[in-house]
Amino acid sequence: MINSTQNAQKNQVQNLEKNLHEKFVFYGKNAKEWMRKCILLLPEIEKHKIWKKHGFTCIYEYAAKLAGMSRNAVDDALRILKKVENKPELKWVIDKKGINAIRPVVSIATQETANFWAEKAMEMSKNTLEAYVKEYKKEYTEAKIIEQKFRTSTENGQFQNLFSEIKMQNISMELDSKTADQLSKLKGQGNWNELMRKLMEVYQAQVEAKKPIPQENAKKYVPVKIEKYVLEKTNGTCSFPGCIKKYKYLHHTERFKLTQAHNPDTLIPLCKAHERLAHAGLIENENLAPEFWKIKKETDKTSEKWLKVDKLVQKHYIPK
Ligand SMILES: [Zn+2]
Repeated sequence: MINSTQNAQKNQVQNLEKNLHEKFVFYGKNAKEWMRKCILLLPEIEKHKIWKKHGFTCIYEYAAKLAGMSRNAVDDALRILKKVENKPELKWVIDKKGINAIRPVVSIATQETANFWAEKAMEMSKNTLEAYVKEYKKEYTEAKIIEQKFRTSTENGQFQNLFSEIKMQNISMELDSKTADQLSKLKGQGNWNELMRKLMEVYQAQVEAKKPIPQENAKKYVPVKIEKYVLEKTNGTCSFPGCIKKYKYLHHTERFKLTQAHNPDTLIPLCKAHERLAHAGLIENENLAPEFWKIKKETDKTSEKWLKVDKLVQKHYIPK
């Protein structure tokens, strides 16, 4: 008897807690939706000075008293909405996902590309979209510059050197005097680039020497030996070109669901945003070493079998 009463009480508490949570989620979701609608109205409210007609001193007072919006939120919304005023596709995204969802693309989207960016903003989280925009700018704006350079050079008849041009980059390092002296000796009369390449080859060879064999018919979890090897290649840093974030996932460039294998050559450490881009099918040359990776404008529709898996994987990431 006592047990059944206790059980009944326990169930009651559980139901109450479940109910509380469900209500909160439901109201929260609605509150967000209504707030998005308020935000979208602000430019028109400001344009017609609606606040004045209803006895408010300014739009900030109007938005604060009627919708609980902060001054910053109003300024931010007006600024962003000004930038997308001729881009209904992006406004539509604001209505569906909120103003943050399009923040990474406001400076890059034009009227002509608004549809492209709206699609990307709907598919990706804000962080993934930020990473994508960063790569997109590098890829497609730099490519354009080279293209233009090429055109002017052909006119001058001196374009041979254009594609053999290697970009040099300065890196400053803080070293203790002993290390600095030793390195300088190793460099001698040569150059830093040569020395660093040599040191890197030694490092890579050392890592490579310990390469474990691939594991076939494997379980989901990557064996420690393989994981250790893969991480040593980049010292645990994301492998995407130019990214120095700490890795978050070991990414199978040959999708695990298809191969059931952990291959040390095709397992790549990636940060969260770059892993998402890979699963969105937006990395070109994914089957080559990451140094050859580039981002794509569109998902490759021909690699159906991969996409099926990627869609499955993506499903787990879609925010509720
Ligand atoms: Zn990364």
